[in-house]
Amino acid sequence: MADLTRYSVIDDKNPREIALLRGRGCTWRRCRFCDYHLDCSKDEQDNLAVNRAVLGQVTGVFGRLEVINSGSFFELDSSSIALVEQVCREKSIRDLHVESHWVYRTRIPALRARFETLGVHLHVKIGVESFDANFRERVLDKGIDETDPAAIAEQFDECCLLFGLSGQTALSMLSDIQTGLAHFDRVCVNLMVENATDVRPDADVHQLFVREIYPRFKDDPRVDILLNNTDFGVGGL
Ligand code: SF4
Repeated sequence: MADLTRYSVIDDKNPREIALLRGRGCTWRRCRFCDYHLDCSKDEQDNLAVNRAVLGQVTGVFGRLEVINSGSFFELDSSSIALVEQVCREKSIRDLHVESHWVYRTRIPALRARFETLGVHLHVKIGVESFDANFRERVLDKGIDETDPAAIAEQFDECCLLFGLSGQTALSMLSDIQTGLAHFDRVCVNLMVENATDVRPDADVHQLFVREIYPRFKDDPRVDILLNNTDFGVGGL
């Protein structure tokens, strides 16, 4: 995965810079639809070199930075986390968006406190994919052993949803977005695309989303919608 585009600027909703970093790799690795956890290395110095090049492009233009790493922020090496802190200081970043799997939820308060000492407000995003716990765990194997959306949201500020899968309906997708907006500050909708896993996008469900759901939320400032998983300008463009 050497040819990924790792830096971009999102200038419409919630304007921010975005950096795709590389970490040690996702420890969960079981989500059936996911192949991006392959972007990882156990070589800390190699990761640091990649991440230094990416973070070196951050200008601080919006004072807001999103850092993702094909896994959880906690799976970045400590040297790369220190580099993120340095960039926040040097570029006057006041808001930092990161991602975390449910399994790390108890470590989030300490991470928030660590960044607060730098004057940086942390926004933590969780990949929920669906609030239908049965579908989420039996079909997607997401690894969230909690069914109550309010309880899931306790340590998290934002959530990702995954649409375009067989079995989803206009009603289920609408319900997922409405639940997300009721419990989280922001919702990020991803549409399933072809990848190296056995999970295939369902073209009919995709069309259903575009026809019936997308128009209702495309201008909602709290909803990001990625019809293609590279719409933020990072990844395998
Ligand atoms: S937690 Fe994230 S990176 Fe890990 S397998 Fe699931 S979707 Fe992929």
